[in-house]
Amino acid sequence: MSSSKLLIRTDLKTGLLQLSLFLFLFFMDKAFSQAVEDGQVLEKEIPISVREVAPGLFFQYHFAESNNAWLVTDEGVLVVDSRQHPQRAKELMTAIRKTTDKPIKWVINTHFHGDHYFGNVIFKDLGAQFIAQKDTATMMKRYFEEELKRRSGYFKQRQYNSDEVKLIMPDVTFDHSLELTLGGKKISLIYLGAGQNPGDAIVYFPEEKVLFAGGPVAKDSWTNPSFTPSITNWIILLEKIKGMDVQFYLGGHGDISDQNDIQNEINLLRYFDSGMREAVSKNLTVDEIIRDYKFDKFKDYRNYYRLNIFIKNYFYTLTNGKPNIFLP
Ligand SMILES: [Zn+2]
Repeated sequence: MSSSKLLIRTDLKTGLLQLSLFLFLFFMDKAFSQAVEDGQVLEKEIPISVREVAPGLFFQYHFAESNNAWLVTDEGVLVVDSRQHPQRAKELMTAIRKTTDKPIKWVINTHFHGDHYFGNVIFKDLGAQFIAQKDTATMMKRYFEEELKRRSGYFKQRQYNSDEVKLIMPDVTFDHSLELTLGGKKISLIYLGAGQNPGDAIVYFPEEKVLFAGGPVAKDSWTNPSFTPSITNWIILLEKIKGMDVQFYLGGHGDISDQNDIQNEINLLRYFDSGMREAVSKNLTVDEIIRDYKFDKFKDYRNYYRLNIFIKNYFYTLTNGKPNIFLP
């Protein structure tokens, strides 16, 4: 498996955490995944792991929630995504401070979902500047209240105060691409059109051969297709990044991926999209599709139990020509 190639931090504690996380997930498997999603297992019981995937480039993987990356340079730190709540962002800062005492210079928000940017205020207070693709900026503003509402159960369960979440807009936006240099290290921001979401930023670290895609990439998961204007374009995006010079793909959810994992995600999307198009062409209703189409070739993937919602939402997209982003 690809993680064996990783430059895993060598301190004993982290090593043990890695091992226990691996064994835990290996044995608990899908039933565990669903229990987490259903809120039966609180996220505090699930380890959050940090691995150094290339020199100075760290990946924080949180099985139950969203992932992050940060690049440490002599001039400061660039952070990718800011977690689902300021309390979570504080924990992320604690993890970052275990790797560096340099100032946080940049935060990239990869897409408009609250679980990837609701922690922004913590980094704002530290003087960071924010970057997002311009469609993400538009949607952060337009859907801020809906995103807050969508996450109210999560906040309640963890006794997080939703008033702490502030809408922190990007200081810098880009359209197709943006090149950054920090402490002599290059970071390329690329927009390949909408994948899972309009505004999906691809963050490429060329020297490290690492690529972070918060929305479009999620290993071994049914990624929510409710927001995409086009699964066809999403697949094109994945084909493009699969062809890039990349050693490790980091998704907004799921563990570290390689080219095979990207191909698996393409296969899943193609399977779901063609099945749904076939069903719509037969003039089936949503209830009939749910009854007749189980898409069970990927029944072991995370979030499969949410299939009915995905069918309902993607049916709307196919029959209306655009997604209804906050269809209940
Ligand atoms: Zn997410």
